[in-house]
Amino acid sequence: MAFWSQNKPEPEKQHDGSKLSTKSLEEAYQELTQSKGKTPAIDLAIKLSDLILEHAIKERASDVHIENQGQNLRVRFRIDGILQDMLVAPKNANIPLTQRIRVLAGFDPEPPTTFRNEEGRFQKIIVGRPIQVRVSSFPTVNGEKIVMRVLDRQQLGLALDQLGMSPDTLAVVKKLIRNPYGIFFITGSTGSGKTTSLYAMLKNISTPMINIITLEDPVEYRLEGINQAQINPKTGFNWAEGLRTILRQDPDIIMVGEIRDYETAEISLRAALTGHLLFTTIHTINAPSIIERLFEMGVPPFLIASSMLGSMSQRLVRKVCPNCAQKAAPPSETVVNEFVKNMDEAEAKIVKELILKEGANYKIEKGCPQCRNTGYSGRTGIFELMIMNEDIRKQVLAHSPTDIIKRTAIQAGKMKTLLMDGIIKAREGVTTLSEVIRVTATMV
Ligand SMILES: [Zn+2]
Repeated sequence: MAFWSQNKPEPEKQHDGSKLSTKSLEEAYQELTQSKGKTPAIDLAIKLSDLILEHAIKERASDVHIENQGQNLRVRFRIDGILQDMLVAPKNANIPLTQRIRVLAGFDPEPPTTFRNEEGRFQKIIVGRPIQVRVSSFPTVNGEKIVMRVLDRQQLGLALDQLGMSPDTLAVVKKLIRNPYGIFFITGSTGSGKTTSLYAMLKNISTPMINIITLEDPVEYRLEGINQAQINPKTGFNWAEGLRTILRQDPDIIMVGEIRDYETAEISLRAALTGHLLFTTIHTINAPSIIERLFEMGVPPFLIASSMLGSMSQRLVRKVCPNCAQKAAPPSETVVNEFVKNMDEAEAKIVKELILKEGANYKIEKGCPQCRNTGYSGRTGIFELMIMNEDIRKQVLAHSPTDIIKRTAIQAGKMKTLLMDGIIKAREGVTTLSEVIRVTATMV
């Protein structure tokens, strides 16, 4: 199959996205398989891989799963965080789809005979814009499984006021990221939109008068006017070493992709004390627990208390489909009492009042062709913003555990938890209560 290695140049044509909407991937596949005999196999495979990617962009899928299950081909998209079947059909031997994707990713056309980790990437103009695709191949007993992570730069290019922050949270964040020095933490699970938030903050404050440097793994999106570097542990350019190098580059603002060890934490917090503004992410379940995570790494309390500006936790919730959503009554007091019974007393009181307060515009999902019968369409962020203040600082210096810090933040800092911010979005009819509870379940 020598022709696979001759990667044909792709004309950068403008696709008409609207044409796709009438045809499902399943129908397009049927049409393609019936044209066998007339069209060479390679052209069919190119067409099919293009079709899959075009549908993926149109449906806002973040991942495309292509599974060879014996005689069947199954294509699934992860849309708004949830996997959905897009195509299940008998595999057509005349369409060497996986070989086509393997070549695009820079792999050998045929999968290796012994297990080997295969990762590659390619960029393509899809529906008129450049899309980056990361490819991973995995040998299952039924055949090769390929997962394509679709990086649509439009998402990463969002502005700070497009992330879904409530007006008061947005105002506080805008003020906070204009501090001359200090460190601000973001936390959230994988795919919660942390990188999008970090980029949006940097863009919001970027001017020619300040030197912004980032350290990332990997650099996912190129930001104009910002010096971005990618860490590379193989060459010794790890987080700590990268940070030391950055500090010799006369920076004003530093973005550190992630802090996961004492050394990086210590250098970051000290840099924040000596006139630099830092943004970073750290892996924890909510905004207050970042402090305990830093304790665990061995960072002394005084360093945290004197350098930390605040922290933010975030998640993405699915927005209810505007075409089919139906009005819903608020839950009964009994249901709400049951829901809040294991929460901290102060938190339970606020959550209960928030859910039951009059004037809510609750919605419930239904399902229609426009939302592929899921009842949801698109996602928005929910945010928990904790601002350092005197009360929290005292708790940090006293080495207090997360639950005390959280209670202090709610009571003295008026912090809205992820759940509270989500309930407000449900009250506004943007999402549903069940979606908010699903997404924040690990936190309650
Ligand atoms: Zn709908």
